[in-house]
Amino acid sequence: MEKVCQSCGLPLNERILGNENNGTFSQEYCYLCYRNGKFILPNLTIDEMKQQISKIVNQSPGNKFQKWLTKQVLCLQLKTLKRWK
Ligand SMILES: [Zn+2]
Repeated sequence: MEKVCQSCGLPLNERILGNENNGTFSQEYCYLCYRNGKFILPNLTIDEMKQQISKIVNQSPGNKFQKWLTKQVLCLQLKTLKRWK
């Protein structure tokens, strides 16, 4: 299964990994959510995260329907992620 960020649900690859305090890469979170061993926005709610995801998806390529679908999938997936359990 593809690895996803356990905070925002975006697919994780080496280029977007967050980092720990000691400089190693996080294997669970992306750099948009997590840097230097902590969440960038520690008080973010799941609804605010959904809004952030919408913004990211809207800026990505694809037609209206593809974007809508991506948002539905990502928002459903959010509830299954470690950060929101
Ligand atoms: Zn993330």
